[in-house]
Amino acid sequence: MLNRRSFFNHSLTASLAAFLGFTQCESPAQTENTAAATPSKSNPNSKAVTPAIIATWPHKEATGPAMDVIQEGRSALDAVEACARIVEADPMDQSVGYGGLPDAAGNVTLDACIMSADGKAGAVTYLQHIKHPISVARKVMEETIHVMLSGEGALQFALEQGFEKEDMLTPKAKEKWEKWKAENKGAPAKANIDQHDTIGVLAIDKDGNMSGACTTSGMAYKVPGRVGDSPIIGAGLYVDNEVGGACATGVGELVMTTLGSFLVVELMRQGKTPQEACEAAVQRIADRHLKEGDDLQVGFIAMNKKGEHGAYSILNGFSYTLHQDDQNEIHEATFMMMNPNQE
Ligand code: ASP
Repeated sequence: MLNRRSFFNHSLTASLAAFLGFTQCESPAQTENTAAATPSKSNPNSKAVTPAIIATWPHKEATGPAMDVIQEGRSALDAVEACARIVEADPMDQSVGYGGLPDAAGNVTLDACIMSADGKAGAVTYLQHIKHPISVARKVMEETIHVMLSGEGALQFALEQGFEKEDMLTPKAKEKWEKWKAENKGAPAKANIDQHDTIGVLAIDKDGNMSGACTTSGMAYKVPGRVGDSPIIGAGLYVDNEVGGACATGVGELVMTTLGSFLVVELMRQGKTPQEACEAAVQRIADRHLKEGDDLQVGFIAMNKKGEHGAYSILNGFSYTLHQDDQNEIHEATFMMMNPNQE
């Protein structure tokens, strides 16, 4: 079906194609990818599209194999899922999947979402006992008419899809939770700069298509039932294959109330570079929610269709991994203000 917008885009692309002398048999998608592959003359930092992966935090162990997926000729969607699964399976990562720190009641509850180049999305929230929430999110996207499943329903769906029920609370995470409980005597968890390492990942494949994924165990010792930004499309993750994508990490409440990743992508659509867009989204959070001395962290990463990237956070200490041009490297993000707890 041709709606008003696709009709407009189609007409515009057809006119542009005619103007540039392309033949009528080239599809809008083909011309769009061709256009995206040409470095912009106005921006000296732009580059021709080559496969690229960007992820929040130091995750070379995951972006490396994810790039292998792309180099095998598979999709950006396969790559972001592969990347997220590696971190979900790591018992040493205490903010994602297996080994993630539990809520105040000692239950590990997982949130994840995934978004594909064709604009589809899948998400799970408050999912327990399943090691790979990102793959359940993909099943929600591909096997149901819905975008998001939650709690017991998400678990039942995962089991029906063949996922195994497992204990997600590792002895190390249990020990930390017991210590927290003894020290805090039931007081609700405080949002702070520690204990958030959600992985958000964006990829561009060999066809120039973009997808993204985001997965987390959420804020440590959260109030039971709490769901953060990470599985919310537009908050923890947003991808628009015409423009680019963005992911968030940090205090989810700040990201949800500004729909941060959607904001970053929309700012890129309006012409900002990924770096400018991340900075503007952090500024929006600061203007709306922060006061002097707050110890609250949010970081954004973004990548546009040309493979240009950006990253920015409220406080120092946010890093990201970029795999591009055969380099798989960790970078420190620039930030808005000094961490009040550090010298
Ligand atoms: N954004 C996540 C949440 O609020 C936390 C994190 O980034 O680790 O659940």
